[in-house]
Amino acid sequence: MEWETVIGLEVHAQLRTKSKIFSGAATAYGAEPNTQACTLDLAMPGTLPVLNHAVVEMAIKLGLAIDAEINKRSIFERKNYFYPDLPKGYQISQFQLPIVGKGHLKILLEDGTEKVIGITRAHLEEDAGKSMHEEYSQQTGLDLNRAGTPLLEIVSEPEMRSAKEAVAYLKTLHTLLRYIDICDGNMQEGSFRCDANVSVRPKGQREFGTRAEIKNVNSFRFVEKAINYEVERQIALLERGEKIVQETRLYDADKNETRSMRSKEEAHDYRYFPDPDLLPLIITIEDIQKILTTLPELPEKKRLRLMHDFDLTPYDASNLVMTQALANYFENVVAIVGKPNAKLAANWIMGDLSASLNKFNLDITNSPVTPKQLSELLMRISDNTISGKIAKTVFEALWENGGNADAIIAEKGLKQVTDTGAIEAIIQQVINNNPMQLADYRSGKDKLFGFFVGEVMKLSRGKANPQQVNDLLKEKLQ
Ligand code: ADP
Ligand code: MG
Repeated sequence: MEWETVIGLEVHAQLRTKSKIFSGAATAYGAEPNTQACTLDLAMPGTLPVLNHAVVEMAIKLGLAIDAEINKRSIFERKNYFYPDLPKGYQISQFQLPIVGKGHLKILLEDGTEKVIGITRAHLEEDAGKSMHEEYSQQTGLDLNRAGTPLLEIVSEPEMRSAKEAVAYLKTLHTLLRYIDICDGNMQEGSFRCDANVSVRPKGQREFGTRAEIKNVNSFRFVEKAINYEVERQIALLERGEKIVQETRLYDADKNETRSMRSKEEAHDYRYFPDPDLLPLIITIEDIQKILTTLPELPEKKRLRLMHDFDLTPYDASNLVMTQALANYFENVVAIVGKPNAKLAANWIMGDLSASLNKFNLDITNSPVTPKQLSELLMRISDNTISGKIAKTVFEALWENGGNADAIIAEKGLKQVTDTGAIEAIIQQVINNNPMQLADYRSGKDKLFGFFVGEVMKLSRGKANPQQVNDLLKEKLQ
């Protein structure tokens, strides 16, 4: 039997506010436990929540960025449950009437096709505190710094059909949140967390199968692995004639498996009701219009513009728009090297430059090689002064010592040899040194051609123009 995977994702994005959603306590990550929890976060009797207006603007920004309906009136409700890291005994969330309604997000798949994923809703809520089980033996520590941190929960429709699509959706959303500057996207610190709802059904069946929800997977790679594991598990169960239980599961990255955590609770278990301490949230058209003017060029639009203006492939363009800083860097380079060299620029930025930045854990805004310096280097590749291979040496020198490409090329004597006579002399020398290989080549061992190219390049210390070497060698070896 052929099976189809169905995935819906719930993303919790921590909003980039200075203070909490209903109190004035700070939200900065990494503070000493319980130094950023005020009386409200501790649920002291008599304290009352006051909505931080910044979160409303941020939610509206997202709503606009995903073409969603923005509800002019939304309601904060209490979601009741008991847990030690939730001192009030309820979480303030939105349920019946969320701030952001139906919207959608376009994702780009690996084969270059596009797919639109529906977004069901996005609602504001507060985070809970943190229970710390590992630090203390026989005891649990409680850190309430995180209690009351603003979250935007973004719920997708069950419209993804593979782990790869789920990851593409998450990356697209992650990029978008950073473009509109409402979430720092730091997954290690938990600023962008994902619950994956996974089910399978026989191919062609209309009804969805029973789903399991995998909680809080904190990297793109683990989301993909967790989903794939879960799909296999469910198919194996169904093929043995067993049933899937609707439940919450935990992904164990060390063992690469999901484990049952608890049976799935239903909405009515939480006794949602409107929070009497908070008024309905009213948004006016003017509020929305004001926020609309603050939106930057969004990643999807930027991608299409780069593809159109510079003849880039969807793949290159989508990599370049991953962050605004990366796209700016690219645009600064092509402003100098021009459209004919745009592909070369994209390759270098996504290749050597990104690799070096990763290696030294640097952001592109702190790149030791500036767009101008890289451009000067690219121009020397483009006008055949140096080969792509030698350019790597120049790049390394630029990275380490700064300066400019022309000076480095002159100083190290890296200028490409394009003089036919000089290259022919080297070829002759290589032929003289390797009579056996020559004989073998001439008796039909075509593969030895690469050997000769290698020897010539070596003898020229990488400086011979590779195309000319190829052409001249073909002639001489006959
Ligand atoms: P809850 O809040 O209880 O987790 P929701 O109805 O809000 O439940 O759905 C949560 C997520 O589960 C949504 O992203 C939705 O797309 C997804 N989902 C719902 N049914 C299925 C299913 N059968 N298979 C996979 N995902 C599903
Ligand atoms: Mg859920």
